[in-house]
Amino acid sequence: MKKVAVIGAGTMGNGIAHVFAQNGFQVALIDVSQEQLDKAVQTIRKNLDRQVTKGSIDEAAKDAAIKNISTFTDMARGVADVELVVEAATENIDLKLNIFKQLDAHAPKEAILASNTSSISITRIAAVTSRPGKVIGMHFMNPVPVMKLVEIINGYATEKEVSEKITSLSKDLGKIPCVVNDYPGFIANRILMPMINEAIYSLYEGVAGVEEIDTVMKLGMAHPMGPLQLADFIGLDVCLSILNVLHDGFGNPKYAPCPLLVNMVMAKKLGIKSGEGFYTYTAGSKELIVSQGFRKA
Ligand code: NAD
Repeated sequence: MKKVAVIGAGTMGNGIAHVFAQNGFQVALIDVSQEQLDKAVQTIRKNLDRQVTKGSIDEAAKDAAIKNISTFTDMARGVADVELVVEAATENIDLKLNIFKQLDAHAPKEAILASNTSSISITRIAAVTSRPGKVIGMHFMNPVPVMKLVEIINGYATEKEVSEKITSLSKDLGKIPCVVNDYPGFIANRILMPMINEAIYSLYEGVAGVEEIDTVMKLGMAHPMGPLQLADFIGLDVCLSILNVLHDGFGNPKYAPCPLLVNMVMAKKLGIKSGEGFYTYTAGSKELIVSQGFRKA
C-alpha cells in the first residue's frame, strides 16, 4: 500500500496524516475547509520540528514527510487513486453516512474504507456502501504520533483479509494493533467512559472533591491522569455523546450519563476546549491551573 486518503483535517486527521506521511505513504488530506487544511499542515510541520529537536528524526525525514502530503477540498479528486481511506471527520452519524456513500462512489472499487470513529457502529457505516466487507474501524488515539494503540474494529461484514491487512499496516506505522468486534463503545470507550461517569457520579453525590478523586486514581491506580482531568482533555460533550451511544446501544441503565455531566455540557463547560470543565485553564494553554474544588449537585 502506497497511497492513502485521510478525510477530515482536525485534531485526529492531522495526526493520522502525519504518521502515514512519516512512514513513506503518499497522503491526500481532505477537508471541506481550506482553513482547516492549512492549519493541519502547519501543525504537522510544528510536530515534525519537535521530533527533529528531540533527535527522533532528521531534517531530511521531516522534509520527505511534508512532501508526501497533498491537500484537497474536493473529495472525489483526493480519493480517486488511493488504496485506503481513513475517515476522521466530525463525530456525527448522518455526516459519516453521507461521507461513506461518497467514498463508495469515488474511491477505487478495491480500496479499503476505514473510520476513526470513537463510537459509531462500523456495521451501520458499512451498510450504506456497496462494499461492506471492505469497511473497518481504525481507531487511533490522541495524540496520534505519540500514542501506540490502534483499536481495529471488525464490522459484522468485515472480510478477514481486510482485518489482517489493516493489522499489518498498523504495525508498519509503528503502532500496536488490537482487534475487537463492533459493539457499542468497542473496548476503549466501553471501559473508559463508565469509569469517567462513575468519577463524575462520585463528585455529584458528594463522596469527594475533584482533586481527591483524581489523586486517588493517579496515585492509587498509577493512572497518568485522573478521570476528571481526562474528561476535560477528551471534551465533556464527547464523553456525553459516547455514554449516550452505550446507553442507547445496550439499553442498560448502568451507562446512564450522570446528570452533572449533562448539566455541564448544557452550560458549555466542555473542558480544555472551552477553558473550563472540572478544572479551569488559562486561555490558549493546556496547563491545569486551579481546581474548581467541591462541586455539589
Ligand atoms: P475535529 O473537530 O478536530 O475535526 C473534524 C474535521 O472534520 C474538521 O476539520 C472538519 O472541517 C472536518 N469535516 C467535517 N465535515 C467534513 C466532510 N464532509 N468532509 C471532510 N471533512 C469534514 O474532530 P476530531 O477530534 O479530529 O475527531 C475526528 C474523528 O476522530 C471523530 O470521529 C472522533 O470521534 C474520532 N476520535 C477523536 C479522538 C479525540 O481525542 N479527539 C480520539 C479518537 C477518535
